[in-house]
Amino acid sequence: MTKTIFRNTFLVGMLVLAICTLMFFGLQYTQTIDETYDALRQETSYAVTGMELSGVEFLEGLDDSSRVTWIDRDGSVLYDSEGSLSTDQSSYAEVAEAFEDGEGKETRKSDISGRQAMYYARLLDDGTVLRLGRPVAAVMEALIAVSPVLWVFVLVLIISGVLAFRAAKQIVTPINDIDLESHASIPYPELAPLLDKIEEQKMMIQEEAGQREEMRREFSANVTHELKTPLTSISGFAELMATGDVSPDKVTEFSKDIYKESQRLISLINDIIKLSRLDEEADLPPKKDMDLHELLLRVADDLKPVAGRNNIFIDVKGEEVHINGVDQLLYEMVYNLCDNAIKYNYPGGKVIMETLTDEKSTRLIVEDTGIGIPPEHQKRVFERFYRVDRSHSQEIGGTGLGLSIVKHGAMYHDAEVSMESTPGKGTRITIIFPKKDVEK
Ligand code: ADP
Repeated sequence: MTKTIFRNTFLVGMLVLAICTLMFFGLQYTQTIDETYDALRQETSYAVTGMELSGVEFLEGLDDSSRVTWIDRDGSVLYDSEGSLSTDQSSYAEVAEAFEDGEGKETRKSDISGRQAMYYARLLDDGTVLRLGRPVAAVMEALIAVSPVLWVFVLVLIISGVLAFRAAKQIVTPINDIDLESHASIPYPELAPLLDKIEEQKMMIQEEAGQREEMRREFSANVTHELKTPLTSISGFAELMATGDVSPDKVTEFSKDIYKESQRLISLINDIIKLSRLDEEADLPPKKDMDLHELLLRVADDLKPVAGRNNIFIDVKGEEVHINGVDQLLYEMVYNLCDNAIKYNYPGGKVIMETLTDEKSTRLIVEDTGIGIPPEHQKRVFERFYRVDRSHSQEIGGTGLGLSIVKHGAMYHDAEVSMESTPGKGTRITIIFPKKDVEK
């Protein structure tokens, strides 16, 4: 910021200086040109008088600061101090003007030197014309040499540099000294809205951090509780078996229970790991082009044994549709939805999975003819560890994390999840993927 202020202030200073200098030189130049013409006019008068008294020899005796040309009535050269006697001079503007009106002047390129020169011509009594010329460069050189402006230029350059630096420092230092905690000293009233915004943002960040911390604490407490239940059962069964006076029948039964509880522990830990990875958005494979329809077929295939055991029929509809997504994550999401649709279904029920696409979005639908979710639970089932019927869910091996994974996975894909459910009739969950390339 200091640099920008310094640069801009300095540039403005330089620009003003350049404009002033140009104007000064412009004015000086026109003034000097006028003065030079006056001097030329006077010199000419002097030369004319001299010629009238002592003829052309007078011209030869003049110093060589000006070029002197004496031109006859027909334009031919009678005398030229630079010795060029060739061309017809009457075509030059100042000469033509002099023949016509008695005097003439012009600034143009000299034929001899090729440099810019000023000419003044006067008609004499005998009808001839006397012309004096002087190079313009000489005028400029004289102008620059005498002018103190160059020194002023250097001085102003230094002064404006120092001032710009000080101005930049003076503006920036109080901003850097602002105490964001107390807001006590606002150096400029214009900064108040910005500081308010910073304060607002700070509060929001603190609030969000607080909420996150609260959620994390709640989640840890829930995790501990959820892990403790199966472990307590396992420990209990093992303790009983360790006494040695458990009948072989009971040993088999307890072993089955221990196996079931440990499977639950493994599912829980797997789901917790998946959720943490989603929370951190870490270690997730990159999004790639993939076919959602093929994914539905894969999940249906993998869950067919489970569905068969419950006498449930899985139907996959729709056709090839591509999105940009993480295959592994989408597999988890669809697996959880289809698994729920089987778990919370009636024997002989149906699960329909479908993909639909139009120009705005691509939708993935998992629908069942199962027990449904009462309206008051519909929002909450996406919360971690939330179950409508806790014991039923635990009985059938649910972790209460499946729909949380679906929700977070959808968020990772910028997709939305919507649910329609009627108790006793069934549930329909739709994941809506936006089409990014569609202009909104
Ligand atoms: P769970 O592991 O318990 O199935 P989820 O997060 O997958 O956990 O689901 C949360 C709760 O939502 C479930 O316990 C169940 O009560 C309810 N639920 C989920 N899907 C369905 C469905 N298709 N039909 C009826 N209830 C469902």
